[in-house]
Amino acid sequence: MPFRKILIANRGEIAVRVIRACREMDIPSVAVYSEVDRTALHVRMADEAVAIGPAPAFQSYLSIERILDAARTSGAEAIHPGYGFLSENAELARACEEARLAFIGPSAASMVLMGSKTAARRAMIAAGVPVVPGADGAVAGADEARGEAGRIGYPVLVKAAAGGGGKGMRVVEREADLLAALREAASEAERAFGDPSLYIEKYLVTPRHVEIQVLGDRHGRVIHLGERECSLQRRHQKVVEECPSPLVAAHPEMRREMGETAVRVARAAGYYNAGTVEFLVDRDRRFYFLEMNTRLQVEHPVTELVTGVDLVKEQIRIAAGEPLSLTQDQIDWRGAAIECRVYAEDPDNNFFPSPGKILTLDRPAGPGVRVDSGAYPGWTVPLEYDPLIAKLAVWAPTRPEAIARLERALGEYHITGIKTNLSFFRSILVSAEFREGRLDTGFIDRWMSRQAAAADGDPEQEHAAALAAALYALRSRPANGAAPPARSRWRSEGRSSLLR
Ligand code: ADP
Repeated sequence: MPFRKILIANRGEIAVRVIRACREMDIPSVAVYSEVDRTALHVRMADEAVAIGPAPAFQSYLSIERILDAARTSGAEAIHPGYGFLSENAELARACEEARLAFIGPSAASMVLMGSKTAARRAMIAAGVPVVPGADGAVAGADEARGEAGRIGYPVLVKAAAGGGGKGMRVVEREADLLAALREAASEAERAFGDPSLYIEKYLVTPRHVEIQVLGDRHGRVIHLGERECSLQRRHQKVVEECPSPLVAAHPEMRREMGETAVRVARAAGYYNAGTVEFLVDRDRRFYFLEMNTRLQVEHPVTELVTGVDLVKEQIRIAAGEPLSLTQDQIDWRGAAIECRVYAEDPDNNFFPSPGKILTLDRPAGPGVRVDSGAYPGWTVPLEYDPLIAKLAVWAPTRPEAIARLERALGEYHITGIKTNLSFFRSILVSAEFREGRLDTGFIDRWMSRQAAAADGDPEQEHAAALAAALYALRSRPANGAAPPARSRWRSEGRSSLLR
């Protein structure tokens, strides 16, 4: 057993995911929870649970002191930070070292390097890794910014040096708009990260976001587990992820090239444990380093489904000093996996968060379906935290079969009491662009403006939307060709998991 006890410094579906790995490894788990999470699923599932403070995250899930206290009182030997919260906080990694606790993640030094977009860029340029053309470091004022943007060429992207979660980012099409963008991005960055520094890079028009999963041990070995396509984004935030990337599937040499580059990135950062190297890919299939996430990603299940590697267990073993259990040659990619991020939000009201009590919850199951969830019926989704309540991932031998399976699983997924974005996924899946794998980071914006145009009565768009709806209705029919039954009590209650 690598550790006698592990504390999970997180909540929601990712805490549940880590608890499951602990249980399979026979390691007792300790959950931590804030006052509003007393009845949360991760608290129910862990072997022990420690209250760490009030609902606001900075007084609970973001308090290093309280997390360390909880580890001490529970006798945990290691801390898994999940994603979000303190997962990319080098202070926690350092504090763990001082407290003689194992941090299930990389070294504080790797986190510091990769936590600054400008420092990471410089290190990557030195390591010969291609980066998006841009400024060498943070820009010091309006004049310098104007000069840099002119040199790079519009459109440019103003980014927070300490950025994350798509915050502090502004696209600037022309010089006249630069000043306002700098001001807005700096104040957003100051609010979100306590650091207003900005830098500027070329804005690639509708690139793809393709990232590589890496694993490194503490003995200097680094391997990659292939790519994930994460081009389906709303406000620079991923909503659907898949493995393999349809682009890489069509150009298999890309996996090796990007994989080797990602391993080079990890080596340049002295990286160990699980990490993700993100790239943007342009229309000519040239790829550029974007950033490295020094933690487990939300979308890790699609890699697990296709490679069969349990990333959380690997993380735990690596943190205990064990060598990687696999060599690069042993990594094999089978079939196709797609994941949807299920949020408590209202797709008909600009994706506004929709916290509240879940009244009923029917989950999909069956062949090739995986649901990583932090929710259960009767549980109230708190408004204090990110409204991600579950991830639905499917695996099938081919991408078209995975899409059919995802449609089937979405048809079985019903949540009442709160609004969710499940219907949004259903409508995206039927689009020809998605089915053909023509994905880029502008996909969802284009799709939304088509929907809006259809709602406004643009005849051409209305036609496209009607076709999509008809196609969905057709595909939702039972295989015997019968029309789906009309709404009835029997249908909504007796057959709650079927064809709604
Ligand atoms: P964050 O750290 O805030 O998540 P990233 O740098 O990882 O920001 O970028 C998030 C997303 O923003 C990318 O996946 C992509 O969609 C978009 N993006 C970032 N940089 C560029 C760029 N130079 N050109 C075009 N899109 C970009």
